[in-house]
Amino acid sequence: MNTIGLFMFDHDLRVLDNPALSMLAKNVDRLICVYIQKPQSDFSKRFSQTHPSAAQIGYLQQTLSELAANLQSLNQSLRIEQGDVATVISRYIKQHGITHVGRTVHAGFNEQQQWRYLKTTFPAVDFSAHSGSSLFLLADLPFKLADLPATFSPCRKRLEQLDIPQPFAAVSHLPPSPITAEYLPQRPAPAAFNRYYAGGETSGQTYLAHYFASPAPAVYKETRNALMGDDFSTKLSGFLAHGALSPRQIMAALQQYEYIHGANESTYWIYVELLWREYFYWYARKHQQRLFSAGGVMQKSLMTCFYPSRFKQWCHGSTPYPLVNALMHELNETGWMSNRGRQIVASCLVNELKLDWRYGAAYFEQRLIDYDVASNWGNWQYLAGVGPDPQGGRHFDIKKQTGLYDPQRAFITHWWGDKDCQPIDHTDMVDWPVGGQWP
Ligand code: FAD
Repeated sequence: MNTIGLFMFDHDLRVLDNPALSMLAKNVDRLICVYIQKPQSDFSKRFSQTHPSAAQIGYLQQTLSELAANLQSLNQSLRIEQGDVATVISRYIKQHGITHVGRTVHAGFNEQQQWRYLKTTFPAVDFSAHSGSSLFLLADLPFKLADLPATFSPCRKRLEQLDIPQPFAAVSHLPPSPITAEYLPQRPAPAAFNRYYAGGETSGQTYLAHYFASPAPAVYKETRNALMGDDFSTKLSGFLAHGALSPRQIMAALQQYEYIHGANESTYWIYVELLWREYFYWYARKHQQRLFSAGGVMQKSLMTCFYPSRFKQWCHGSTPYPLVNALMHELNETGWMSNRGRQIVASCLVNELKLDWRYGAAYFEQRLIDYDVASNWGNWQYLAGVGPDPQGGRHFDIKKQTGLYDPQRAFITHWWGDKDCQPIDHTDMVDWPVGGQWP
């Protein structure tokens, strides 16, 4: 029988170390590769009232362009579709007589629901999903998913006892596509690329080699909390979030570095940070839709409200806090922000502005070039005190953080944090209904 496979690229935009792609390719005679640009979910629309930023769109386009080129070198092509995933895949199955559908397991709740729907709707089609976004496989975990520790440290201690898996052998051949001519890969205009950060598998491989050839990994632990500079942290998150690089590839490069230059506290700490990512991946798989609920996995009752003007000030970087403003300006312009910066602005939204944390998380979803459902919503829960923080939430003293991480105000000056500082809840006398009836 002539078998036709459909591979759904999503957060695994690479050809190397992509087990789901390799396995599907082995099982079919012909193969169609698709990436679906999804419409914004109703949930994000409700909380963000904004659209993906130019930086985020440009970064994705560059990543897709590099994937298309890498598929082309294997005589394959990438089709880019827009629309609801279930609708697009259903159309392909019917139009092209698809016998097999493959994908990388996704941590997101919506993505898992769509997958279940497709499996139920097309029982005659062979659906297979493989892990490719996490370092470890579900079967490797030293606990059942339902028993994932409630906080990071006990989880880290158990994961550290496992052997680190190596990347899969490189794929050398993909079956040809049954669709010809009109379906050539769409290449975005170079002007749309993110001008600050490179995205994509080829750029990722080059960057990985560059980072681990530099002196930066040896001092990562001392520099990782900085706000500004090229290599104070690894800057690998964009590649990881889109799957242009896999965590296994990064660990292989880290181990190689340690073999040549020796391991130290800093190289170990890069691994620890990757384990944070791993923790949030399994946290999202375990908690499903509770990742997005106001009370988080703790199901806490929160006393929050929505103050549109405060939220707008936070998004635009016009709060009374220069450091927060500078960080938000950086995010809006580049699509990236340091980890310390993310903690500070998230704490400000929750503690100073007293807003529902989900508005902040949804705004990040539309802005970050490294947006990742598990890491983003998990970290926001942590900061808001409704997630895996043993201390029950974090409140960063903005003045103290400014003194510690921007003592000369170089970051604030660079990202014009002082320019538009405004007090919160400021209302002109003329707008205030002082002449009305008072009890
Ligand atoms: P490095 O410091 O070099 O760390 C190496 C890698 O470890 C990162 O690339 C990342 O994959 C992982 N990592 C480090 N810290 C964390 C962490 N706290 N949680 C999960 N993984 C981590 N990271 C994302 O990838 N996508 C997101 O959408 C995201 N949203 C966040 C939202 C908030 C409110 C906060 C506080 C953090 C968020 N993070 C997110 C985590 C972290 O800020 C970024 O991964 C990191 O800043 C990216 O820069 P880097 O690659 O140089 O990190």
